[in-house]
Amino acid sequence: MANQEPTDPSHALFDLFVTAESCRDVQQHFSALCEQLQVDPKDYRVFYSKLKERLNYWKAKDLWKEIDKRASHKDYQQRKACAENKCLVLGAGPCGLRAAVELALLGAQVLVVEKRASFSRNNVLHLWPYTIYDLRGLGAKKLYGRLCTGTLDHISIRQLQLILLKVALVLGVEVLTAVEFQGLEEPSGDKGWTAKLHPNPHPTLAFEFDVFISAGGGSFLPDGFKQKELRATLAIGITANFTNRHTAAEAQVAEISGVARIYNQKFFHDLLTQTGIDLENIVYYKDDTHYFVMTAKKESLLKKGVIKQDYSDAEQLLARENVDHDALWRYAYEAANFSTNRQLPELEFATNPAGRPDVAMFDFTCMHRAEHASLVRERRGKKLLMGLVGDSLVEPFWPLGTGIARGFFAAFDTAWMVRSWGLGIPCLQVLAERESIYQLLSQTDPGNTKNNYTSYSIRPSTRYRHVNLSAIQVHQVQHLYHICLPHVNVFPVLVPDSAGGVEDLLRWCQKNTAGYAGVEVKDFTLSWTSGLALCALIHHFRPQLIDMSSLNESNAVHNHQLAMDLLERELSISPVMAASAMASKKKIKHFSLTSNFLCFPQPAAP
Ligand code: FAD
Repeated sequence: MANQEPTDPSHALFDLFVTAESCRDVQQHFSALCEQLQVDPKDYRVFYSKLKERLNYWKAKDLWKEIDKRASHKDYQQRKACAENKCLVLGAGPCGLRAAVELALLGAQVLVVEKRASFSRNNVLHLWPYTIYDLRGLGAKKLYGRLCTGTLDHISIRQLQLILLKVALVLGVEVLTAVEFQGLEEPSGDKGWTAKLHPNPHPTLAFEFDVFISAGGGSFLPDGFKQKELRATLAIGITANFTNRHTAAEAQVAEISGVARIYNQKFFHDLLTQTGIDLENIVYYKDDTHYFVMTAKKESLLKKGVIKQDYSDAEQLLARENVDHDALWRYAYEAANFSTNRQLPELEFATNPAGRPDVAMFDFTCMHRAEHASLVRERRGKKLLMGLVGDSLVEPFWPLGTGIARGFFAAFDTAWMVRSWGLGIPCLQVLAERESIYQLLSQTDPGNTKNNYTSYSIRPSTRYRHVNLSAIQVHQVQHLYHICLPHVNVFPVLVPDSAGGVEDLLRWCQKNTAGYAGVEVKDFTLSWTSGLALCALIHHFRPQLIDMSSLNESNAVHNHQLAMDLLERELSISPVMAASAMASKKKIKHFSLTSNFLCFPQPAAP
């Protein structure tokens, strides 16, 4: 039976969908299948059950069995936990798609936007054991039979994306490729949060959402989030992909799952003396391609003419115009050939989407990590929960293979956050819990996470050994709740020749600084010179930013400087006067509080 060609057209379409090897084919065969079965993916609430009901095919049933098992986990509450939520996921990389699958399992409506038109990344990723287990649990083996067979523990990025795309589509996730996210549109009128997408206008501009997950990779960070930079000594990585013809001779060449200089000095010494190539480490995996990744020493790249001129700045050093690409290809070729004992026959570069040899050189001296993982914005009474996953949250150090492992953990943690959001848990509590869990992410490794993979779920305690969901308290995340208070009722814009406006503003200042020691706002001149009033105003809305008891009334310039720094850094309000001028007893003519104050976060709960 297994070898028979299916006669039912829907079965044939299902086979095409399952075996499709490009993003476009997956989407096309999926649409054709849906049309054939007359099921509408936009009907996301019932789509999966209708698909199952109408596609009575043994191969499909094998897949449903796996997905049903996962979907029946109590954490998803029969796919009702987030039934009222609409989620926009930015990026169809592995982590964005993995997050989208979880959100769909929670019952949310999910739209993924991806700026690339195709999945073309050949690079091969080493997977931690739990991720292989996780993928199998999603039915990945039914979608890609070669997934981690035997002792193999790696997969190309594009194959991983294809598997996850297929699972996501089956669960009713909408995935738009060749569509770039260009920012959020704030609610207006009756309309909620929407996205600026390119090309524009796009029918999905109408998609309103209350959850936004950013999985745009290491170089994308949405507004409102900040990154920390971790700098190490200069590290230059090179990746190279060669065509895999899957011949017996190629199959015999042993992979190198990671050899570092300190463990095999002879190998690196021989490589240097015979070829002039000086490496710190090298990895070789076989997948769709023969994939090599290595860390090269700058001096050898200079000597071999790969880098034309030496610069101390890594960006300048590896700038396009400072790299001789022919020399880079020769360098990668020689390193690959040497490290496989020249056993790979007809070594020929695979090509990248531009049709050029798939070789890349990159700097991983600086790693970025987001300062926080979540945020809530509120405008016109409409709340938006925002979260980061994948490289956009924590950029991995590639030699450790942490990208997917921590990326999937973050996808699960984010799904857990969205679940709490969907269940109506107060937003500061949702944020505090998310940030508590985020503290653990960068330390996770196979040794300190739970090893019972069967019980893994989005619930953090199933994966982290020691997790304290209230390590961070609600008052510590108030700055992550950005609320825009309504214009007229709260803070009239100061118009110098409008007496009414000034009066309103004065009353607003008095109300929000009442009760602070040493503060009595009577005017817009002398009441402000000590700086305490401005600090009190900030403290009223963001108590965690200022310790009022540490301030001294006589230290006016310091108080003003502190307030101005906080206004600029935390609230994007640029100073229009120097602290010394604010501290002087002259009349303050153009008070620097502008309508930006309207964006103060929600006052602390009493
Ligand atoms: P990405 O894979 O970067 O995906 C982000 C997606 O967002 C992209 O498709 C991009 O087109 C899209 N996007 C960006 N901006 C927009 C926008 N404005 N609108 C729409 N779409 C947008 N990890 C491992 O686990 N094991 C390894 O062995 C390993 N080896 C590595 C080797 C190298 C050389 C490198 C560089 C990385 C390696 N990694 C490894 C890391 C791994 O590749 C990443 O962790 C992983 O790809 C991150 O997935 P992601 O979904 O977060 O981001």
